[in-house]
Amino acid sequence: MASKKPANPARELLFGDLWEFDPAPESASPHIAPRYDLFINGKFTPPRSKKYLASISPRDASKLSEIAIANAADVDAAYKAAAAAFPKWSALPGAERGKYLFRIARLLQDRAREFAVAETLDGGKPIRESRDFDLPMAAAHFFHHAGWADKLAYAAPGRSLAPLGVVGQVIPWNFPLLMLAWKLAPALACGNTVVLKPAETTSITAMKFAALLGEAGLPPGVVNIITGGGDTGHAVVTHPTAAKVAFTGSTAVGKAIQRALAGTGKRLTLELGGKAANIVFEDAPLDQAVEGIVNAIFFNQGHVCCAGSRLLVQESIADDVLRKLKLRMRHLRVGDPLDKNTDVGAINSMAQLERIRALVQSGLDEGAELYQCPASLPSKGFYFPPTLFSNVTMSQRIAREEIFGPVLSILTFRTPDEAVEKANNTDYGLSAGVWTDKGSRILKLSSELRAGVVWANTYNKFDPTSPFGGYKHSGFGREGGRQGLLEYAQLV
Ligand code: NAP
Ligand code: MG
Repeated sequence: MASKKPANPARELLFGDLWEFDPAPESASPHIAPRYDLFINGKFTPPRSKKYLASISPRDASKLSEIAIANAADVDAAYKAAAAAFPKWSALPGAERGKYLFRIARLLQDRAREFAVAETLDGGKPIRESRDFDLPMAAAHFFHHAGWADKLAYAAPGRSLAPLGVVGQVIPWNFPLLMLAWKLAPALACGNTVVLKPAETTSITAMKFAALLGEAGLPPGVVNIITGGGDTGHAVVTHPTAAKVAFTGSTAVGKAIQRALAGTGKRLTLELGGKAANIVFEDAPLDQAVEGIVNAIFFNQGHVCCAGSRLLVQESIADDVLRKLKLRMRHLRVGDPLDKNTDVGAINSMAQLERIRALVQSGLDEGAELYQCPASLPSKGFYFPPTLFSNVTMSQRIAREEIFGPVLSILTFRTPDEAVEKANNTDYGLSAGVWTDKGSRILKLSSELRAGVVWANTYNKFDPTSPFGGYKHSGFGREGGRQGLLEYAQLV
């Protein structure tokens, strides 16, 4: 509800004066425990190190809980439990494994509100997104793979699928529960057992999920969730028992993992960073494109590996797009992620906020022109205003490096060939967007763009049936769809 109405709404909208909204906080309890131990062999187990790290809420920098730090011996115990559980779990008829996955999916739906609040408090994303995107998508991945569990014979016609064994999985902090679902659901559907490590700033929903596995009656050891920092992650990915490692995170850590696993014969999939081009042609429906540009870069504060962080606009419409974009940005509501009206929430951690600030400073130093949302930010917590840079050249750091924050770099092009050339002129290749009225142009560009996903006249759309993954430094392997399922099985 608006508490302050402008005198002339039509004029105010055009000229950008803002409506104020009364606070609309989500009030459901997240049921966060003061401390979380490791989940090994179906039990919560204190870490051998006796050490815990503080889980901070980026919303107001308050401490939410304590998360156990697993050492190499804890990781070893988790792998032993997973290896012991493997023979029975892999021998279950697919329909029986499917029942567990259906149960997990339904439990997630039942508890969606509580999990959404926990996700928002721990990670900083707007409640609207955790409620309407992260939770429904996480459940959808379990439903989808529950359906595959008894149909594996149809996934590779003429061949049969066998599980790989114990799988080690490490996930990042931007979509904590959703990345867990992307990793666990296909692994379990194929009959593997798992050791998974969430990111240290966002382990709470993973540990709440561990408790939910008990409610689903999942046999002990099938899923083990262990927490900690980079050292724990290193112990997970290098453990000799792992038949496969699946990692989502930064390109630098991905490369280190690839080096560590070279020559071991272990299967590896890497979902890494991106610097996606979102390409807008002069024949695109501009108002829709502006909505798409905003969604592409400001969704989840730009903490999105496939974020449309490089906007390529055809020169003839560049001024128009920039004007419309600035007007639209003025109406983004930035602030308390627990407020149901918030569009852009908190930056996940102080460390990430500092990385964003440093890259924005480099843009200024290198001569780009800055525009920021005129939002008043909360005094406590980690926040950064939605930002765009014009006057950007391909050589600037803000055009080349992944910022992983709410910062858009705008470049222009004249011809379709130039757009493709600029879009592909990057080390990354995870995703791209194309906005045009011409179907033939969409088809041509989607084969020319070196990106795992190309969205046309939309952006950031996901579905469990659709494979997702990268080219070049964005990694290899696919998640989702039949392709993603086959990453967790061997053909026999
Ligand atoms: P990160 O530092 O690489 O961390 C990812 C995960 O790896 C975390 O759980 C981290 O633990 C762990 N880790 C850190 N050092 C490790 C090591 N030496 N060995 C094994 N594991 C290690 O990345 P991030 O900052 O969390 O995430 C942001 C990056 O992920 C971005 O570059 C983004 O593009 C990418 N990402 C890609 C996708 C995709 O699908 N392609 C999706 C989401 C994110 P700690 O958190 O405890 O340090
Ligand atoms: Mg946190």
